[in-house]
Amino acid sequence: MSIAPPSSGSATPLLLRSTGPMLEVDHITKSYGTVRAVSDVSFSVPAGQIVGLLGPNGAGKSTTMKAILGLVRPEIGSIRVLGQDVTRFPVAVKRAIGYVPESTSLYEFLTGAEYLDFVADLYGLDGATRTARIEQFLTGLELSGHENSLISGYSQGMKQKVALIAGLVHHPRLLILDEPLNGLDPRSARVVKEVLRNLARIEGVGVLFSTHVLEIAQAICDQVVILRKGSVIASGTVDALRNRAGMSSSDLEDVFLSLTETGDLSDVVTALSK
Ligand code: ATP
Repeated sequence: MSIAPPSSGSATPLLLRSTGPMLEVDHITKSYGTVRAVSDVSFSVPAGQIVGLLGPNGAGKSTTMKAILGLVRPEIGSIRVLGQDVTRFPVAVKRAIGYVPESTSLYEFLTGAEYLDFVADLYGLDGATRTARIEQFLTGLELSGHENSLISGYSQGMKQKVALIAGLVHHPRLLILDEPLNGLDPRSARVVKEVLRNLARIEGVGVLFSTHVLEIAQAICDQVVILRKGSVIASGTVDALRNRAGMSSSDLEDVFLSLTETGDLSDVVTALSK
C-alpha cells in the first residue's frame, strides 16, 4: 500500500518538537502496592523505527504502555513524547499518540465508516483530510467494500483493523499497539505488518508494539526491548544483538540464549516461544 507524506491535517501540536526521538522512557519505576511492576526501565523509539516490547506474561509491558499513555504514573523516572513530559502536557501528548489496545471495544451498532467518522470528529479533523485518510487505510487494510456494514457483523480481524485505522486517523507521530497481530489470519497479519512498515518508513512514525511472539519481533522490528520481571534484560537492534552474540545469521531465539552464559534468558525465550 502507498502512504502519502504527512499532510497539513496532522494534529501534532506545535509545542511538540519535530525532530529527535518520538518517545523517551527514562528510568521509570512503577509499583502496585507491594508489587513492583516496572523497575528502572529506559528505552527510546526513534522516528521511523519499529520497536518491539517483548516479554512473557507479567513482565511489565502493559504497565510500561499505560505509563506512556498517562494512565498510570511512575513513582520514579520520566517519559517524554516528542520532547514533552507526558504528565505535564497530557493533552498535547495524547494528540500525538495513536493507541491500539489489545482487545477492541468498538461501538458495534455503528458501521465501520460511521465509527471512523466519529473518531475523526473527536480529533476535530476536517472532512477532506479525514475522508482521504480513512479511504487510504480502508484500501490498504483490505476493508474497502465493508465500511458501510455494521461492526457487529465484522470478524475479529476486521474489528482489529478498524481499531488500527481509528488509532491512525489523526496522523499520530507515535503509534502504540498492544499485541497488534493477535488473532489475525496470516494474510491480515501480513497486510498489517506492511502498513506498519510503511507508516514508519514513509511517514516517519515511531511505532512501539508489545508482543510475546519472537517471530513477529524478528520479522518486523528495527529494535527490541526485552522485559523480564519488570526490568530490561536486553535491548538494541536485532543485528546488534546478533553481533554481540557473534551469531550473524541466527534467529532471535538463539541470539538471546547465547547472550547470557548463565542461561538467564532461557526462561524468557521459552515463555515467549509458547
Ligand atoms: P501480560 O503479557 O500478561 O499482559 P505484562 O507484561 O503486560 O503481562 P503487566 O500487566 O504490566 O505485565 O504486569 C506486571 C506486574 O504488575 C505483574 O506482576 C502484574 O500482576 C502486576 N500488575 C499489573 N497491573 C496491576 C494492578 N492494577 N494491580 C496490581 N498488580 C498489577
